[in-house]
Amino acid sequence: MKKRQEQKTDSLRGCVHLVGAGPGDPELITVRGRRLIENCGALVYDALVNAEMLNWARPDCRCIFVGKQPGQRCATQESIGDLLVALASEGLEVVRLKGGDPFVFGRGGEEAQRLQAAGVPFTVVPAVTAALAAGAFAGIPLTHREHSSAVTFVSGHEDPRKGESTINWEVLARSGSTLCLYMAVGRLGAIAQRLQAAGLPGSTPACAVQWAGTSRQKSVVGTLGNLSFRVAAAGLSSPAIIVIGEVVSLQQTLSWFSPENGADHAQDHLPPLELPLADC
Ligand code: SAH
Repeated sequence: MKKRQEQKTDSLRGCVHLVGAGPGDPELITVRGRRLIENCGALVYDALVNAEMLNWARPDCRCIFVGKQPGQRCATQESIGDLLVALASEGLEVVRLKGGDPFVFGRGGEEAQRLQAAGVPFTVVPAVTAALAAGAFAGIPLTHREHSSAVTFVSGHEDPRKGESTINWEVLARSGSTLCLYMAVGRLGAIAQRLQAAGLPGSTPACAVQWAGTSRQKSVVGTLGNLSFRVAAAGLSSPAIIVIGEVVSLQQTLSWFSPENGADHAQDHLPPLELPLADC
């Protein structure tokens, strides 16, 4: 990638807060995250952010959508970085609101690097990442003294530019860790085969949780060997987390959440993108 030659400058008065919005229910954002939204001059947000949070912003706040419309192309990371730097350069306090936690598979790291290179001050506000929401709202404790003492967050969708996967599925299969797969629905069959080939029994309990913690939550329970078929039969798609491990069996007794009591999270009316687009 082209190395950026950006000068640090004292003329920048603005700043950017990389804020995690949590998994979709507006009540699951942090108090700090909400306060920053209420005070900011510009709000740059993603598709998985619940639109209700935009109502917390000041009437004069510039709300700019940079997420991916379902089935469409998305704004380039470079253009999002340019936008954040430009808004901060105008002296604005900017909230960059991202689904889940900004530093877990959210490209928050890349955005922070870009801001740092441009000399824009930034802060990071952590949040409930999707795997934690999937565990909580599906009744699956991700760790349990009798079942699992480790959790691993894994991306099922690595950057295609990397070529060969850098994930060592063989090590993961033997780790005894609860595995939480993000962005993995489309590759679940292949991932499950690879884990089984590496020795993780096909009978290992596994669960897919879509739209965790919202009124749209759906979950499908099975085993490593059959989950991909069950997910396909149920028509479950992104956004979903796949949890694999013995802890999933606890869901039979600990399932407590009724989606009809969850927060509404409609994605139907996302605004059009005004930034350069790329395949993503
Ligand atoms: N930064 C986010 C992850 C972004 S990657 C976080 O910390 O949660 C996008 C992936 O997150 C989706 O493909 C899906 O795997 C997962 N995801 C996000 N929100 C979700 C939700 N409410 N329920 C289930 N999975 C979700």
